[in-house]
Amino acid sequence: MSETSRTLSLRVDAEGRLAVDPSDARQLGLRPGDALRLETGDPLWVARRPIGELARVYVEPTNACNLACRTCVRNIWSEQSGFMAEDTFDAVLEGLASFARRPSVFFGGFGEPLAHPAFSR
Ligand code: SF4
Repeated sequence: MSETSRTLSLRVDAEGRLAVDPSDARQLGLRPGDALRLETGDPLWVARRPIGELARVYVEPTNACNLACRTCVRNIWSEQSGFMAEDTFDAVLEGLASFARRPSVFFGGFGEPLAHPAFSR
């Protein structure tokens, strides 16, 4: 299990509904009406996040790199190096911060993301 993994207790209520403790639901960012998918198997049952929830975002702030590895795919490119506009970068971060349950963010692509000037602000 990862550091963020948790084990929650669920119970079946008097109407036969599977219920999660309200404080656990709040901590998970679950809202009334959210639908989770429960996959049953042997020996595990796995509850999936609500359908439609953004789980992961990939951001490529630049395709520039301070290295010149011989095996880099950039060696066969004719593309110019470029940097995401700082306004766009800021808008992406603002948008991500607005999610009740923030997705994980992967900064990468075909370049060194830390070469983007926004990382040194
Ligand atoms: S993008 Fe990756 S593989 Fe390419 S030169 Fe930079 S560090 Fe090396």
